[in-house]
Amino acid sequence: MKIKKVDNNYILRIDKGEEIIDSIKKACTEKQIKAGGIIGVGAVDELKIGLYNVDNKEYLSETLKGAYEVTNLTGNISTMNGEIYLHLHITVTDENYNAKGGHLNFARVGGTCEIIIEEIKDTLERKKDPVTGLNIYDF
Ligand code: FE
Repeated sequence: MKIKKVDNNYILRIDKGEEIIDSIKKACTEKQIKAGGIIGVGAVDELKIGLYNVDNKEYLSETLKGAYEVTNLTGNISTMNGEIYLHLHITVTDENYNAKGGHLNFARVGGTCEIIIEEIKDTLERKKDPVTGLNIYDF
């Protein structure tokens, strides 16, 4: 992974074989980014997407393997108990141009992945919400 900084933005090049979430976390730790927005595109060869069912507070997930274009990766950076917390969603398309997407749990880069982080110069802390079971913004 390579990082380039321009003003309040960090541009990440995540290389083949590297895991996207790990790489973004590493960049946040290295550059002391505690809050911000994330957008990205690229190609992956394995990923795990999920869905949180609020009614029964259960996570569903599915692993996809093969050639996928990352047509959109969107997310944010915050903290929970002072630790970096990423919330990422992804949409990918397959060789038939069909899309799948969800909450992102894991993604291994197949070609390259280009991420832009827009830093928010503040902290955004999270807390567990007993109603939904989700880790929501604490403000
Ligand atoms: Fe989510």
